[in-house]
Amino acid sequence: MKRFNVGVIGATGMVGQRFLTILENHPWFDVKVVAASARSAGKTYREAVGEKWVMPTDIPSNAADLIVMNATDDIDKIASQVDFVFCAVDMKKDEIRALEEAYAKAECPVVSNNSAHRGTPDVPMVIPELNSDHIHIIPAQRKRLGTKRGFIAVKSNCSLQSYVPALFPLSEYGVKDVLVCTYQAISGAGKTFKTWPDMVDNVIPFIGGEEEKSEQEPLKIWGKIDGDKIVPASTPNFTAQCIRVPVSDGHMGAVFVRFESKPSKEDILKKWRDFKGKPQELELPSAPKQFLHYFEEDNMPQTKLQRNLENGMAVSIGRLREDTQYDYKFVCLSHNTLRGAAGGAVLLAELLCAEGYMDR
Ligand code: NAP
Repeated sequence: MKRFNVGVIGATGMVGQRFLTILENHPWFDVKVVAASARSAGKTYREAVGEKWVMPTDIPSNAADLIVMNATDDIDKIASQVDFVFCAVDMKKDEIRALEEAYAKAECPVVSNNSAHRGTPDVPMVIPELNSDHIHIIPAQRKRLGTKRGFIAVKSNCSLQSYVPALFPLSEYGVKDVLVCTYQAISGAGKTFKTWPDMVDNVIPFIGGEEEKSEQEPLKIWGKIDGDKIVPASTPNFTAQCIRVPVSDGHMGAVFVRFESKPSKEDILKKWRDFKGKPQELELPSAPKQFLHYFEEDNMPQTKLQRNLENGMAVSIGRLREDTQYDYKFVCLSHNTLRGAAGGAVLLAELLCAEGYMDR
């Protein structure tokens, strides 16, 4: 695979820092541009991020001395220096929508962590193991935008990256009704215990907008390309409660599921064990060898023990058992800033490169 020059828009934020850490030694991608708000622009990355650096490893040496560019004012300059950008910014939705379209129209593809374009019918929202075929909507999107190369591809919300991967391989049994409670880490809000001391010894039963995303986004993932848009599926029916818990990283889901045609427990375990997607087939650099790991022990998976499994890109599942009201219940876990954010976006970018969408 040839090498690609990349930019990180929102590089000083929590997800942006994850991007730089993951990309430090990436076999295909070289970080050439970091960009953020006017507050950071003009400073070296090290100065701009300063005390906000929260990753467990040092600031990558390939990024520390880069001069931070202005994400909104320097679009053409950035587009001329990179093959594509990753984007994770904290701005209003309509501003993000406009920003990402401006990069795409400058012929710079955008792989986004933001939610602004997840509902746009010709923007693929991809968990690469599940719905990699949705990237083939990109020619229709390019036609709408009037671009040759530029497009936007997004990853889904971090909350659903544990339970949707667990349920999707069971589609042939007709996944009908799903009730899920998520227990979400504070890094999902871009926070640490230092910056959010109220979360120590506390649980907050509300995360703005999260329950809607957790219920609606899975339907687009189960959806199908029809002409120039992706049409969301009408089932499964999801209901979700999303709760913030005092955990640094790692979102857990407690799932109850009813099927059209109830499989045996052994059927489900076999589907999870055997499940592979396009990233495994193509041996993409960030793909976990085994996407879904099932743990037999009653007290697993645990956030602290399993969140970093396969570099934080695998999903851990446990406690599959029959339920008195639904068919089955189980728990599942994924790392919210790795698989759920930057890692998932890097894997999506690898897929797009392998399938020729980043070619010049
Ligand atoms: P964050 O830590 O608050 O970082 C926000 C970034 O946006 C910073 O780089 C900031 O630059 C930049 N920014 C803010 N206002 C800007 C402006 N007007 N123009 C240009 N850049 C601006 O947020 P985060 O947690 O990384 O989240 C970023 C995005 O990813 C959000 O849309 C979030 O919903 C999404 N996301 C987060 C997670 C997660 O687990 N944290 C998971 C999935 C998706 P300055 O430093 O210069 O202010």
